[in-house]
Amino acid sequence: MIDTTLASAPPVDSPEANLAASEAALRRGDHRAGAQLAEQALAPPGLADTAQRALAWRLAALHRWRLGDAEAALRHATQATTAYAELGDSAGHTESLLTLCMAYRDIGRPREALDHAVQALASARCLGDRRLECWALNRVGGVYRVIDDTLVAADYTRQALTLARSLDGDDEALFASLNNLANDLVACAEYHTRDGQAEAALAALAEARQLSEEALTLARRSGNVHRMAVAMGNLAETLSQDDDTDAARDLIRRYQALAREHGFKNLITSGAYDIATVLQRQGRHALAVKHLLKLREQVLDDPANSEVLRNIERGLYESHKALKHHEQALACLEAHSRLERQWLIERADLQARVKLGQLDLQRTYDDLERLRAEAKTLARDARQDPLTGLANRRAADETLPLLLAQAEAARRPLALAMLDVDHFKQINDVHGHAVGDEVLSAMSLVLRARLRGSDLLARVGGEEFMLALPGTLAARAAETCERLRAAVAVHDWQAIAPGLAVTVSLGLVQWRPGETRTSLLERADAALYQAKRSGRDRVVQL
Ligand code: GH3
Ligand code: MG
Ligand code: MG
Repeated sequence: MIDTTLASAPPVDSPEANLAASEAALRRGDHRAGAQLAEQALAPPGLADTAQRALAWRLAALHRWRLGDAEAALRHATQATTAYAELGDSAGHTESLLTLCMAYRDIGRPREALDHAVQALASARCLGDRRLECWALNRVGGVYRVIDDTLVAADYTRQALTLARSLDGDDEALFASLNNLANDLVACAEYHTRDGQAEAALAALAEARQLSEEALTLARRSGNVHRMAVAMGNLAETLSQDDDTDAARDLIRRYQALAREHGFKNLITSGAYDIATVLQRQGRHALAVKHLLKLREQVLDDPANSEVLRNIERGLYESHKALKHHEQALACLEAHSRLERQWLIERADLQARVKLGQLDLQRTYDDLERLRAEAKTLARDARQDPLTGLANRRAADETLPLLLAQAEAARRPLALAMLDVDHFKQINDVHGHAVGDEVLSAMSLVLRARLRGSDLLARVGGEEFMLALPGTLAARAAETCERLRAAVAVHDWQAIAPGLAVTVSLGLVQWRPGETRTSLLERADAALYQAKRSGRDRVVQL
């Protein structure tokens, strides 16, 4: 049975005694008392010894992080990192980098998190310290996890687990590795399911369950309440995925009670979300909606909660849909799509950064600045056309399905047009390629200025643009396209090169409910082809 009756920290007054008590609280998982004790030890007059001060900051950071207060953790860990650097204590410095990493991750800044994890991994290897290396591998995996690079995350945490098992008797590192890998495997199972690989998904889930059970056994043996709550949360998730919903619900209730009792903020939030998921799996959608709405209220204003907020909106959409609350379903789908779009853009940037982060391991610091610049370009190139600043083909490929799903759910219309510059090859031939480029960037301004913010405008080929107009009926869309055509035709192109004239042709179609993206694009291309065939500088609507 789980023992939740922990003695709270006894009142002690000397800073040294507070420090020792804070360390003991860490072992028990009594982080609320531990944080207070470390902070008391740092309060004036405070610890005389520099090494002890560094330790107090590190403990305060760890306790605060486990309580879900990443901002306080960040402040303390920054102090600890500086203090250990000044002391020349490489192991202590590496430890604090690891806490700094998690704090950055949890305030929603995975780029900085990765920098610190990578630095810690390099320095652990440099020191030949296998325990620290194991933690660093866990942390690198943890960063990959939050940017949805699930398979890579599992790869790192698996390395961590192998190392932890070889560390004989280090229960803490073993516990963390078991838990993290179990967590990653649940995400991998979802990934495989989406990919249609049912067998791989089942295997991942089975392993996750086994690891979660092993972790829970370890946690019970350690008597550490935080570990127990974390392990129960993980096991509940695998049970729920396995459709063992009653057992999952029971575990969630138990770990939520622990989390509330001990003030583990993140676990309180994830417990509330997990309950809603279980209710959904049981088909109890009205109750799920109630839970999700309440949770949304609680997490709304904290940017660190963006992932859970995305999940909440998706969950609300699903449950409202099941309840045939179409209007609410639509609103949640829209909110979810908006958050998801933001996340896709952010994630591309982060993934690019992380890929270069791997290289950082082998490079010297001199290269770092150059790599940062490259990473920025890489991330931008991933979704943005550098010449015009518009969305590129890849961004369009990702966004269009979202717009179609919205139109489908809301039973709203959507118009799509392909636009192609007429005789552009000739423009290049007569005026030069540089003028051609200028035409394209001026073109993007002319078009963008005449569209709504919610319209998608992308440069999908050399001189070819795609427009998606959500919520627009055929007649309105035709007017818009005609307005664009006319605006291009009368634009002052001579300002770019004397004698320059530019026109465009557009092919416009109306999306038919249920129609695939491919069919929609094919019809728009056919319309564009007709516009070209029938003389250019016109809109053809099919
Ligand atoms: P049409 O009216 O049938 O569309 O004729 P077109 O000349 O526009 O069509 P075509 O597809 O034959 O030519 C497109 C040209 O666009 C060919 C290519 O050299 C040029 N092009 C593609 N990308 C760029 C670019 O980024 N900058 C410049 N300046 N030219 C480009
Ligand atoms: Mg052309
Ligand atoms: Mg073309």
